[in-house]
Amino acid sequence: MLTKAFIRNFLHSGHTFSQTETDTKYKYLFLNNVIGFAAIAALLIGLVRIQQANVLLGNIDVLFSLIFVFLLVRLRSGKEEIERVSHALIVAAYLFFTAIYLLAPQQSTRLELFYLLVASAFFLKGRRIGFFWLAGIIATIAFFHLTPFFATGYSHLDIFTASLYMIALFFILNLYEDVKLRQSSALKHLNANLESLVTQRTRELEVANAQLQHEKEHLHAISVTDQLTGLRNRFQIREIFQKEKSRAAREHHALSLVILDIDHFKSINDTYGHNTGDRVLQRFAGILKHSVRQYEYVLRWGGEEFLILLPQADAEMAMQIARRLQATIRTTPFPGVGHPTASFGVTVCSVEDTFDTLLSRADKALYQAKQNGRDRIEIL
Ligand code: GH3
Ligand code: MG
Ligand code: MG
Repeated sequence: MLTKAFIRNFLHSGHTFSQTETDTKYKYLFLNNVIGFAAIAALLIGLVRIQQANVLLGNIDVLFSLIFVFLLVRLRSGKEEIERVSHALIVAAYLFFTAIYLLAPQQSTRLELFYLLVASAFFLKGRRIGFFWLAGIIATIAFFHLTPFFATGYSHLDIFTASLYMIALFFILNLYEDVKLRQSSALKHLNANLESLVTQRTRELEVANAQLQHEKEHLHAISVTDQLTGLRNRFQIREIFQKEKSRAAREHHALSLVILDIDHFKSINDTYGHNTGDRVLQRFAGILKHSVRQYEYVLRWGGEEFLILLPQADAEMAMQIARRLQATIRTTPFPGVGHPTASFGVTVCSVEDTFDTLLSRADKALYQAKQNGRDRIEIL
């Protein structure tokens, strides 16, 4: 772990590179390693040359070694120095290699240094600037070879073939760059396709989700609604009661329950038929629905029995509401079936009540209303 950190620090000087900085990262690695190596090599070769009495070139080596050290320090000071250091390295290497080319005629491998320079310029600065360097380097080599003031020690053929090889090297690098660009544009294309596919799929999913949500709401609505009357069914009444009881306690309100049962409904069915019975139920439901306030609950408890839960209503108000309903029922025409009536049981919720105890009390009151002659309201 520690060695890994050390190597990282050595290679990147602790700089971090984001995913979009891959180019920068590898340039940095290249510069850091190459300049470091060049500084050491130039120093060692310089010292050897000074010892071998080639003092001028030896001193030039040492001088460039110092220049390389300077470049390395600049590079390691910040990754934003990369472009400037790249330029400086290429220029320094060009001058250095030219000096060696001119001053070390006995060293037959020194032309190879320019191959490194062509490749480095291409890598660091791209094909356009790389090409100018290629041309400049070939021109320099040829120029000094042809001037009578320097004996380079190379034959014309050497210089000609070296130039051709450099051009070939550049040609290969250029082709490789083409391949790289093609690949990256193919990747980009693929990426764009994928992105549009993902967008399309996301949109489809959103539509499907909205449909599901809509269906869910529809199913919920069906599950809590009585199909014949369109009123609430008994499905959620316990939860509603619990919620309203808590609210009543919190806000110091009363909470009342009215149960309503149509009188002699069986005989309506028997006399006029089941369909007419259904229509009577629907009509009752209509009356109830239109007689309560928005925050009051009307539901079909079952058969011809309805519940009305009245938040905020005490005994007196609940009685009033029941009376009003009774009056509306009495005055509502039921074409063809005479004048159906209903009996009411009213009760007020106490602290100890559960829904079942409350309902059972309302039911008892209703039973009393039936016992006492129907079309009546009783309260318990
Ligand atoms: P009471 O005055 O004592 O309440 O007498 P009732 O005839 O109303 O009471 P009973 O409970 O004997 O009859 C209720 C009838 O309601 C019996 C049943 O056939 C009828 N009923 C229940 N649900 C429906 C329905 O959805 N449609 C129709 N048409 N009739 C229904
Ligand atoms: Mg009944
Ligand atoms: Mg009845």
